[in-house]
Parts: sequence; C-alpha cells; structure tokens
Amino acid sequence: MAKRQRQEQMTFANVGGACSCERCGAPCRVDPVPGSQAKLLKRSARPRGLCASCAVHDHLRHLYPVNLTLARGGPQLLAHPHIQQMYLDLLRMAGTDVTAEEIDWQAIIRNWDLPFPTAMLRFAQNPVSEEEIAMARLEGQQRRAGTWKEPLTEEEFEAQRQAAIKKFFDGMDKERHEDPSADRRDGD
Ligand SMILES: [Zn+2]
Repeated sequence: MAKRQRQEQMTFANVGGACSCERCGAPCRVDPVPGSQAKLLKRSARPRGLCASCAVHDHLRHLYPVNLTLARGGPQLLAHPHIQQMYLDLLRMAGTDVTAEEIDWQAIIRNWDLPFPTAMLRFAQNPVSEEEIAMARLEGQQRRAGTWKEPLTEEEFEAQRQAAIKKFFDGMDKERHEDPSADRRDGD
C-alpha cells in the first residue's frame, strides 16, 4: 500500500490575524500560539473578541460581589495600585494569559460606560442581573451627588400609596362638586 505523503499546509487566519476590540475598537492580534489552557482571560485563537482591558472589565462585571461594589462605588476604585495587584493575584491563581502590562487601568476607567457587545450573564457564581447592576450604579451616582434617598419600607410605601389614592379621589370629588355640568347630571 502506497503511503500517501502528507503535504505540509499553511495555517490560515484572517488578514494578518489582526482585528479590533469589539467594544472599544483598540487594535488586537490573534494569539500566534493557539491552544491556550488559561481559565481566565484566555487569548483568542480567532480574530474576534475584546482587548485585554475590556476583557478585564468583562470579567469584573461578572465577578460577584465585586461587580455590585464597583457599580456602587464607581470605577475609580480600580485606580488604586493595591486593588490592581489583588486582581492580578486572583488572575494568576486562576491561570490567565493576560499580563499586567497588557491591562490599561486608565482605559478601563475611561471606557467604563461603553456598552459590551454581549449581555451580562447570570450564573451560579453571579446571581445579579444587568438591571440590578444598573440600579446599583444609579444608587452610587445619587449617593455621590447627595440626592440618594433610602428606599421606602413596605409599610411606608403602602401608606404613601394610600395617601396618593386618597388625594386623587378627593381631587376628583372636589372637581365633581365644582363642575356645574356634573351637578346638573347629579340632579337628573
Ligand atoms: Zn477594548
């Protein structure tokens, strides 16, 4: 049996293996050595995905309860070198492709409000939804602006609701007695 010789082939990637971050548009390159075993922030073998800084933010927005703290406190917390170091330690422990040099913390803070191309996921380790994060963000903004109000208890809410209904009813009742056409109808 004639042994068929395997012909050597070129591997293929998109033009130059280059692409841009799907969130902030930063130029990116495909991993020249695909097959990464990283558990967190793994290099992409295909020309798509996020730049290192957006990938860090993507990880942070899924990292409960850090995501809630960041939503309330704002991204400035990430400017602290010891916070950055703790995050890098966490990444290293999990196994990651990203290096400290690749993460631009200022870009993460600057681009904080840019939308992500994918929705936030809820899973066992991340019980919060995108809506809850949005609420926490708003609460944080209002606290910093000094306009935040403690949410009402159920009793307070019910009392306010009843008061609003009564006011609405009294207003209608008063209107009814002041409206001559309503009076006439009453007399019919
Ligand atoms: Zn990016």
